Amino acid sequence: RSKSTAFIGLGRMGSEMAYNLFSKKLAQSTDSHFVVCDAVAESAMTFRQNLLSQFPGTNIDIVQTPEEAVRSSETVITMLPSSPQVKTVYCDRNGIIPALKSLKSAETQSTLFIDSTTLDVGVARQIAGEVTLTGAQMIDAPVSGGVTGAQAGTLSFLVGGTEASFLQAQPVLEMMGKRIIHCGSSGAGLGAKICNNLVLGVQQIVIGEAMLLGRNLGLDSAVLAGVINSSTGSCWASSVNNPVPASLSDKTPPCEKDYEGGFATALMLKDMDLATNIGKVSHSPLPLGAAAKRIYEEAIQRRPDLAKKDFSSVYVYLKDL
Ligand code: NAD
Repeated sequence: RSKSTAFIGLGRMGSEMAYNLFSKKLAQSTDSHFVVCDAVAESAMTFRQNLLSQFPGTNIDIVQTPEEAVRSSETVITMLPSSPQVKTVYCDRNGIIPALKSLKSAETQSTLFIDSTTLDVGVARQIAGEVTLTGAQMIDAPVSGGVTGAQAGTLSFLVGGTEASFLQAQPVLEMMGKRIIHCGSSGAGLGAKICNNLVLGVQQIVIGEAMLLGRNLGLDSAVLAGVINSSTGSCWASSVNNPVPASLSDKTPPCEKDYEGGFATALMLKDMDLATNIGKVSHSPLPLGAAAKRIYEEAIQRRPDLAKKDFSSVYVYLKDL
């Protein structure tokens, strides 16, 4: 097999990550062949065109199934919405695990799987277990840093897996991110990611509440954001992702583009769901997490158009109440 690198899932995050990875590999001449796959054919075609326009003559193939990606690649990165899509890509008839089972053990042993999706810890552990049974390596490596971090190549990767698989993945992850943290064994990266997003999901709502309260008290939104960002209420949800247009002077949060781009409200609801589920399983009380989940749910129910918009649009829902 050739030493190609495959990327499956070229959405808002995956397309930026794959672009950084492939362009850096090209610059270092470490790889000459790339494979991409997405359920939406247009996403894979657009990605291929973008890469070719910057690096003419690059050897990049679009494949229709994860099975084909595995057959030609030694490193496979997946960046999918959540658990159902990861199960499909890894376990379906044309998926990764059946393909691995049909390869010779010498071929599977050198193959590394990096799943950067934010998904259920239990599902991730089960899939990683099945992959490693074939002799291949697999890590969970969800990310923090959003679309801007993916574009800039400054993501934080939170890794769960063995020391050996972490070391094998490190040079690949360094081409897409700045901080690569080994959080523990399989599933530990996801555990850390879900805890972080629990904080973020709650904070984005309370910043929306505070900005709305300030407005109703007659405060200028730029003045209030300036106070919060230099005081004890300071957090990313206010200083980078502030939900009120014109409240930040030198940054361009999604609210400036009618909440387009960024991290979809539907995906934040998914993460709140992952947190509350794992909270139940591990007997951890999450009263604020449960309340935040209800608020994102109601926001999408009342305003279905917010589902695909950045989750800071929860402010729009609060304003409409
Ligand atoms: P997205 O919906 O934009 O991208 C997902 C991509 O996967 C899409 O292109 C979709 O067509 C593709 N896909 C779905 N099913 C597939 C299948 N069976 N086979 C092949 N491709 C398939 O989502 P995103 O915003 O890029 O997020 C991806 C993951 O990263 C999610 O788990 C999310 O929670 C996490 N995340 C997102 C952000 C963010 O700011 N967007 C930040 C951190 C983490």
